[in-house]
Amino acid sequence: MRLVFATAELSPVATVGGLAAASAGLVSELRRQGVDVDVVMPDYGGIALADPVSFDLDVPSWAGPASVTVGDHPVCGRLHLVDVPGMARPHPYLQPSGEGWPDNDARFFAFARAVAAFVERVRPDVVHLNDWHTGAALAALTDGPPSVLSIHNLAYQGHASVGWLDVLGPRAQHYEWWGGTNSLSGAIALADAVVAVSPNYVHEILTPAGGFGLHDALTQRGAALRGILNGIDTEVWDPAADPHLASPFDLDRIDARRANRSALLDRLEFPDDVVPLAAVVTRLTPQKGIDLLEPLIPVLDELPVRLALLGSGDADLAGRLHVAASNHSASFAFIEGYDETLSHLMFAGSDLFVMPSRFEPCGLTQMQAMRYGSIPVVTAVGGLVDTVPDVDAHPRSGRGIVARRAESVDLLAALFRASRRLGDRRRRATIQRRGMAVDWSWKQPAREYLGLYRELVAHG
Ligand code: ADP
Repeated sequence: MRLVFATAELSPVATVGGLAAASAGLVSELRRQGVDVDVVMPDYGGIALADPVSFDLDVPSWAGPASVTVGDHPVCGRLHLVDVPGMARPHPYLQPSGEGWPDNDARFFAFARAVAAFVERVRPDVVHLNDWHTGAALAALTDGPPSVLSIHNLAYQGHASVGWLDVLGPRAQHYEWWGGTNSLSGAIALADAVVAVSPNYVHEILTPAGGFGLHDALTQRGAALRGILNGIDTEVWDPAADPHLASPFDLDRIDARRANRSALLDRLEFPDDVVPLAAVVTRLTPQKGIDLLEPLIPVLDELPVRLALLGSGDADLAGRLHVAASNHSASFAFIEGYDETLSHLMFAGSDLFVMPSRFEPCGLTQMQAMRYGSIPVVTAVGGLVDTVPDVDAHPRSGRGIVARRAESVDLLAALFRASRRLGDRRRRATIQRRGMAVDWSWKQPAREYLGLYRELVAHG
């Protein structure tokens, strides 16, 4: 089975959100399961490959010149880096001001066109596209192999002006969207299979509330739409061999976890006592619902729980969180930034892990938290529903606490319920062990993707 896998992000060479981790995790497991994968991603510059070989791609003048460099990356293995005009930038999508690059439409349409040219050249058994950045490839592929589109986040669709329809390719009319061009809507219409990154996210995106305007387009795809839950990289996220931790641990050595809790409390300047510690590790965007926690911060002084938040993104929200942390330093700590090392300690040292998301296609952090023995407190959205059964609704299999709605009052109730559950040490240990015992790796998701590729090839 030869697969072309096209993505705008790949961990660790280009990481903005969960797409990077999902791409890297799926590709390496597919390779382990015997699939010959050509990973095609933009050349943002500064990515060193061993034994590089470059060749030009045959694209129309608006998308060129386009070339691809193939070589070996020490972590990612064989990589194909596509260079098109304007692609090499310090951040894949954003200017230093935090605004998107004004030519992101041109950059990623050119990348998608180059992906189509690459597919025409190598003629794989299947092409797997991810999110809007690669969606327009199908406009140009009239005689291409079977195609899969994974939707990692429907909120980002690649809206552009109507003029693009004139150049994208023979099937560009499928990308017309309310007087403009929409990369994702066209790919949803044209891909042979559309995959959302969790089964529950499939239900949500078929509704007007969760479909970001594309629920009808998705509904029309019927059985071609399915959900496959993401995994996590269980080598990177391995509490028994994690260089970022103060003390490695696993299910058989769960007592060793305590040293991580002490190290984290020390780092946060909280006392090392029995008060439950809740952690958040997140991007600061409206999706993540961190603003819903803001009204709770003053209340924390009265609750038997402390909260520590590691986050980067929205500057206004970060400013408010700094103020809240200085006003309520006994119960709330805020660390601004993207800090991988600290994030590992937050998972390994916290008692609870809070995700107040308004929507969450799959979510990785709740799985990372459970693998590291932190009990998740989540909203009932997207992949959180698939991965975190509530301990009261499912007494024998529950793994966390689920807030009914993404509202501050529901989150307060959930935190209160969680702190009560944690009071019972035996019950807490049972819940913790259940989360740690689950296989959160990419093995099963990769098997499902491989099954899908085989189905498409068989029917192609
Ligand atoms: P999203 O992709 O929507 O941001 P996910 O939960 O799918 O959310 O994945 C986020 C990934 O990024 C996780 O691996 C998480 O640990 C990591 N991450 C998010 N914010 C931070 C941060 N501030 N510091 C370190 N790691 C972070």
